[in-house]
Amino acid sequence: MSRIHFKVFVLVAGASGAEWLLGLLAALPGGEDGARVLIALVAAVALAFLVSRRIARMATEPLASVAEVARRIAAGDPEARLLWNLHDERDAVASIVNRMADQVQSDLGATRRNVQQLEAVMGEMIEGVLVLDSSERIVLVNNAFRELFGVWGEVQGRPVLELIRLPAVDDLLTRARDSARPVFEDIDVRGHVARTVWGRAARFPSAGPRAGTLAVFHDVTEIRRVDRVRRDFIANASHELRTPLTSIQGYVESLASGPMTPAEVASHLAVIQRNAHRMRDLIDDLMDLSRIESGGDAPDPSRVDVVRLARTLVADAKPRLARAKLEARVRSASAPPAWADRKALEQVLENLLTNAIRYSDEGAAISIDVEPRGEMLEVSVEDTGIGIPDEALDRIFERFYRVDASRSRAIGSTGLGLSIVRHLVQAMGGTIRVESRLREGSRFTFTVPRAPE
Ligand code: ADP
Repeated sequence: MSRIHFKVFVLVAGASGAEWLLGLLAALPGGEDGARVLIALVAAVALAFLVSRRIARMATEPLASVAEVARRIAAGDPEARLLWNLHDERDAVASIVNRMADQVQSDLGATRRNVQQLEAVMGEMIEGVLVLDSSERIVLVNNAFRELFGVWGEVQGRPVLELIRLPAVDDLLTRARDSARPVFEDIDVRGHVARTVWGRAARFPSAGPRAGTLAVFHDVTEIRRVDRVRRDFIANASHELRTPLTSIQGYVESLASGPMTPAEVASHLAVIQRNAHRMRDLIDDLMDLSRIESGGDAPDPSRVDVVRLARTLVADAKPRLARAKLEARVRSASAPPAWADRKALEQVLENLLTNAIRYSDEGAAISIDVEPRGEMLEVSVEDTGIGIPDEALDRIFERFYRVDASRSRAIGSTGLGLSIVRHLVQAMGGTIRVESRLREGSRFTFTVPRAPE
C-alpha cells in the first residue's frame, strides 16, 4: 500500500470510527457529557502518539543519514559528506563525520601513491622479487621474477612450489623462514635457456613475530661464466708455462750434475732451447690476446690486396710445405681490395695457413679463395687434412682448447691461435666460421669489409 493510499485509508477509517463511537456514546445513559470526555481522551491519546512518533523520527533520521554516509565513505566514495545545516548540536556531528571523510580521502590518496611508486620500482627492477606471507603463500611477485622463472597468470595466495618446481628455491625460502639472518645461494634454472640465479631470502621483520619472507633473485649466468673462463684461463696459462719450465729445469740440473760428452751437452741444450722458444711463443700469444681483448691498438685500415697478400704468405711457407709434403695455392686470380688493418689481416691468414699445414697429413692440399660478397670480401682457407670432430666445432675458438692436446703440444701449438684470429676478425668488422669433416678436411671462412670504390 502506498503512503497516499494509507493516509486516505486512515482518514476514512478514522471518520467512520468516530461516527460509530459517537453513536455508541449517545446511546449510553447521560450520553452527551460522557461522549465529550471520551472524545477529549481519544484526541489526547492520538496527539500523544503522533508527537512521540515525530520525536522518535527526529532521533532516528539523523542516525540513518550518518549510517548511510559512513557506508559510502567505507565504500571509497570521495563525495560522501553530511550536508546538514540544522543550527543545533547535530551540525557538530556532521562536521566530525565530514572531517573524518576528508582524512580517509587523504590517507587513501597517500596509500594509492605509495602503491603506484612501489609498483613502478618493482616493475623497473632487474632483480626478481617474491614476497610470502606468514603461511608461505605468495603475496606478490614482480615482472622480473616472472621472466626469470617463467611464471604466468595469477600467483596470489598460491604456494611457491606449485608455480616453480625448483626444490632449491623452496629450500632457500625454508632456510630463510627458520633463520634469523638472510640466506643466499646460487640456483640452477633449467628451461628454454639454462641460467644461474643468485637468490637471497630473509624473514621480515627481522625481530619479533614473523610476518613473511622476502626473496630477491638476480641472474648471474654471465658473471659466473666470465668468472669460470677467467679461472680456467689462469689455470691453463699456468699449466702451459709450467710444462716447458719443468723440462728446462730438469735439463739444466742434469747439465750441472756432472761431466757429459759434447753430443749430450748439445742435445740437452737443444731441448732447453726448444722449450724456451715454446715459453716465448706462449707469452707472445698471451700478450697479443690480452692486448686485442682490452681494445688493443687502434686499427689502422687501408686498401689491402688480399689475393696478393695470400700469395706472398704461401710463397713464404714453401719450405714448411715441402717438409710436410703438402700443396698450397691461391685459387682466386684477383679480387677487389679489402679495407682492413694489414698487419691484423696478415696475422689472421698466417694463423689459418699454419693450422692447415699443422693439421694435415702428407699429400693433403690447401687452397685459399677470396670472393666479393656484397659489402664484404669472403676469404676461405681450406685443407684436406685431419678434420675436426663435430662436438669440437663449437669450442675450437676458445682459449687453450685443442682437439688433441698431445698432438698439438708435440707440434708446439698453444691453443690460442684461433682465439686470437677470431678477435682480430671481429675487430676488423668481420665474422669467422668453420666447416669440417673428420678425416676429410676443414674450411675456415672469414669476412672483411671491402674498400670503398
Ligand atoms: P693451436 O695453437 O693448438 O693450433 P688453435 O687455436 O689455432 O690452437 O686451434 C685450436 C684447435 O683447433 C687445434 O688444437 C686443433 O685441434 C684444431 N684445429 C685448428 N685448425 C685446424 C685445422 N685446419 N684442421 C684440423 N684441426 C684444426
